Amino acid sequence: MKNCHLLHVCCAPDLAISYLSGARGDIFFYNPNIHPKAEYEKRYAEVIKIAALFKMNVLKVPYNPDLFFKLTKGLQNEPEGGTRCEICIRMRLEKTMEYAKENGYKSVSTTLTASPKKNVAMIVKIGKELEKKYGVEFLPNVYRKSPLYNDAQKLIRKMGIYRQNYCGCIFSIRNSVIVATQETKTVKSGVEV
Ligand code: SF4
Repeated sequence: MKNCHLLHVCCAPDLAISYLSGARGDIFFYNPNIHPKAEYEKRYAEVIKIAALFKMNVLKVPYNPDLFFKLTKGLQNEPEGGTRCEICIRMRLEKTMEYAKENGYKSVSTTLTASPKKNVAMIVKIGKELEKKYGVEFLPNVYRKSPLYNDAQKLIRKMGIYRQNYCGCIFSIRNSVIVATQETKTVKSGVEV
């Protein structure tokens, strides 16, 4: 039987957390922000593993990074959580909503709310704006609040699931390198371990 809920999935670890928080439905892995393509393929392959474990259906979505670069032109120096991220999240949720509307899904939610680094208020605001535009309900589920959060982390470790060390776009790779360099300097100077 066809699912009536469409779950936007950003990565395998967040899918595991979200599933243990009660997330169900068909998986829509739409993330053209991820760079480079090899990283996109790697994250997608990990999502397939978790989906198989939970017997979830994964919809194949083409990788089209041009749209991400077009929408975020000139915003490469924005801090994480700023305007560029708002545009990125809106792009992903809008495509999910469009697909849901065209294919008869009744509701949408996103595993982006499983990440402790994401601004849930921003995600819900975007989701609710899109709900009005497309007439598909956006469920404001905050998957990171699950009491099984630690169990999900154990499961991810046990399955050897890849955990990325940057959010996804080319700009966040640069940020993660800067943060890692700063942390190394701090450890070397003995200020903090
Ligand atoms: S940092 Fe993450 S949310 Fe922000 S633009 Fe890059 S991929 Fe998107």
